[in-house]
Order: sequence, then C-alpha cells, then structure tokens
Amino acid sequence: MTLGTEPLTDPFALAQALSGAHLINGRFASAASGQTFDVVNPATGAVIGQAAEGNAEDVDRAVEAAALAQADWKRMPARQRGKLVAACGARLAEHVDELGRLIALETGKALRTESRVEASVLADMFVFFGGLGSELKGESVPFNPDMMTVTMREPVGVVGVIIPWNVPLLLMAMKIAPALVAGNAVVVKSAEEAPLTVLRVCQIMNEILPPGVFNILSGFGPACGGPLVSHPKVAKVSFTGSVETGRIVARAAADRLIPATLELGGKSPMIIMGDADLDRAVDGAVTGMRFTRQGQSCTASSRIYVHDSVHDAFVEKLRARVDAMVMGDPLDEATDIGTIISPQQLEKVTGFIEAGRAAGATAIACSAVPGDPALAKGLFLQPVIFTDIAADAPPAKEEIFGPVVCVFRFRDYEEVIEAANDSEYGLAATIWTRDLRTAMDATRRLEAGFVQVNQNLVVQPNLSYGGVKSSGLGKEASLESMLEHFTHKKTIIFNMT
Ligand code: ADP
Repeated sequence: MTLGTEPLTDPFALAQALSGAHLINGRFASAASGQTFDVVNPATGAVIGQAAEGNAEDVDRAVEAAALAQADWKRMPARQRGKLVAACGARLAEHVDELGRLIALETGKALRTESRVEASVLADMFVFFGGLGSELKGESVPFNPDMMTVTMREPVGVVGVIIPWNVPLLLMAMKIAPALVAGNAVVVKSAEEAPLTVLRVCQIMNEILPPGVFNILSGFGPACGGPLVSHPKVAKVSFTGSVETGRIVARAAADRLIPATLELGGKSPMIIMGDADLDRAVDGAVTGMRFTRQGQSCTASSRIYVHDSVHDAFVEKLRARVDAMVMGDPLDEATDIGTIISPQQLEKVTGFIEAGRAAGATAIACSAVPGDPALAKGLFLQPVIFTDIAADAPPAKEEIFGPVVCVFRFRDYEEVIEAANDSEYGLAATIWTRDLRTAMDATRRLEAGFVQVNQNLVVQPNLSYGGVKSSGLGKEASLESMLEHFTHKKTIIFNMT
C-alpha cells in the first residue's frame, strides 16, 4: 500500500486506498488467511472497500509486535510519551475533515452534526491525555521510620481493545490515549461495520509513535476479538459493546485472571419536573436521545419521564423539533440525520417499533425519509416518539440502539425516581428542574454513573464516564481512569538499617 498521510478529502478514494489491511508493527499487512470482507456505505448499500479478515494468527502477530515494542516504550520518560501522544492529537486535528468524511461514509452518520464532531473530539482526547504523563505518580508510605516505602505506577503491558461501530473514533481514543501515555502498547480490534477510519487514524499516529506501540486489526467478533482476549501476552482488556458480548469478554478475561474494563448498554432516564425550562429540556432531549446519531448511543436518553402538567406540551415541542430535522445523505452539509448502520440493526429497531405498537402505545413518526433515488437503498428510518406506553413493553425496557424514545407521564416524584431506577442499566441520567432541593436529592438517588442537572452533555475529557449495574465496569476518559485501568501499583520497600 502506498497511501501517504497528507489529508485526503475524497472519502471514496480513501476507503479504496485503505482496503484489505491490518496495521501491525507500523506497517499495513494483509490478513494471514488472505481473506477480506466488504465495507458498505449504509446510505446507498454500495461496497466502498474491503477490510482484512483477522484471525488468531493475525492476533498473534500483532500482540507479539506490541509486546516487543512495549519493552522500549515503557522505558521512555512518561512526559516524552505524553508529548508524542499529544503530537498525534495535533496531527489528527489537521485531518478532522478527512476523518469526518470517511466515518460518515462507513457509518452513515451525518457529517455536520456527528461525524466531523467525532473526529474533532478524537484529536482533543489525545491532546488531553498527552498532557498527563507527569501525573503517573506514586506515593510515599509512612510504614516504618527505618524503611523507605514507596509505590510506583507501572504499565500493565499489552492492552487488547475492542470497540463498536457507533462512535469508533471517540471510543478508541478514550481507551488508547490513556493506555499509551501510561506506557502500554495496544492492539485494537475494530468493529466489522466501521474498520477503515480507525485504520487511517492508526496510520497517521504511526508516523509519530514507534512501530508496534499501536496496532489495529479488523475482523469478526469471535474469530478475531476472541483470540485477542485470550492471547497469553494480553494483560488487560478494554471493551465497549453490547451486554451479551461484554459477558463473553468478561468470562474469557476471568479465565485468564486479567482485568477487563467494560462499557456496555444503557436505557438512560431523563426526568422533567413541572417547573423545568421546557425549551431547554426539549433541546436536552434531542441531544440526549442522540437523534442526529439515529439514537445509536449507549447513553441515549431513551426513557423520558415528564410531569403530567407539562407532558403534552413537551411531546408537541419534541415532535416539532425532531420533525424539522433533515434526513438525508450523510455527506451533505444540510443533513441532520443519517442512516442506521446495517440491515440487521434496522430490522432490530423496526421490530421494537412494531412491538411498541402491538403493546398499544401511540407511535409518533417524525422527519421524512429522503426521496432522492440515489439513496433509495439507504437504511433511513423515521425517528419514533412513543407515548402512552406501558413500562414493561419491550421498547420501554430494552436497549434499542435506534431513534426510538419512550415518553412517560408521571405525577409523583417518589414514583418517578423508582421508575427511573427500575432498569437493569445504570449508565446516565438527567433531571430537569429549577428546584435545588429536588435536583440534589435526585442526583443522589439516581442509579447511574453519569448524572446531570438541566443539561445533557456528551462525554468530555477528564470527566469519568461509565456505568453501574449491567452498564459496565470501570470508568473512562479521565485521569483516574488512566491510573486505575492502565497501570498497576507496585509497592517498594528499602530497608535502611
Ligand atoms: P454490536 O451489537 O453493537 O455489534 P457487539 O458487542 O456484538 O455489539 O460488538 C462490539 C465489538 O465486540 C465488535 O468489535 C465485535 O466484533 C466484538 N465482538 C463480538 N463478539 C465478540 C466475541 N465473542 N469476543 C470478542 N469480541 C467480540
């Protein structure tokens, strides 16, 4: 492959040029089996390129290269490692438009509202963690006056990283930036639906990092992700994906007694009290529900509880807002909403919509599927707002990962807190009220890893992010996450007598 690293804004040409390779030890490499699989543009159904189909042999090559590279990488002064990672962030910032276009092409997420934003946050995450090298501090311990006792933070070794397709750039950055700064080498297994943009990121970063420190493989879950978790030289796994796969990964990690960080599903509640600023709450619902990402977010505020006194007004305002959003070609700057990722996902989401209707709920479909014949095979789906839906109907309980939101009416604060917590998930929650006492009480009682009042911000550098209950194990994106998940603490005693 002769692809250079100057920014290329034609995503179709870039997808072709990136086709058919892993990136191992600083070089593009075909799959050991020689096999590839198609990468499809969900807005047209057209094949845009191929990805190398990784297996256990590819995993072995990548992990061996990573282990070798890590031996030198961990000896580099921490601030120097950080400077290289920050330099990757600065370089990636020059590629924001290019990466945004490519991720829009392979995932169907709209360029202006989602894809370019994600590429920009990717670059920022590397810049943020790049500044934290000197925070890898230990402690001195008052153990015995005749003994100098200290702790040191050491890297864990080779980290296996498995990512999903919904926000692959951001989720990869949240894992590999702290892992690298802490002195680990990484092997990433990309999602089968979105293997190309992350490969490009790896190529750009390999211009700056020593070879072997950051490797990336494409392939299917059991055939490529499985061997990565069970490789004897992988010392830690960081996974984002579904609860079912998270359980498989956690079991495999447990067999090897290695730690696993898991960021899994969600069914996040949003509570709107009668005194809330309704327009702000509607904005928050649009952002929180990730309508511009077709609702394909584990954090999606997919259960909205609205006080009876403002319920009908809220539903009407939300309907009008979502209805005004433009669905269309993800690469078109005018587009707000793109496509669902794959036919399988589309089928799953429409199944939930049918189940909600069958359960007697009112389904309000918003926005309009584009009429352009070039997009006739695109995986477009009208967002749906369910009202009058039973709490035990499938769309109300299960994670949909699509543009479907359930709005419930409530009258009593105690009841709504109970309803919000009545979920196997606990990723995020928000409450909207002008009353400080209610806000503070709710933030304490809501069972979630990330709770916000009167806003619905997405993941931010240095705010610990992650869930409780079935939403996962371990936090990400912060200094503490780097220390807790990508280092271990060594205790050292000098006997001075
Ligand atoms: P989704 O339904 O969003 O695709 P998954 O949890 O199945 O969610 O996928 C998330 C990531 O986990 C993907 O990279 C996928 O290839 C990987 N994966 C799937 N199955 C396994 C497995 N058995 N072992 C390791 N990784 C897997």
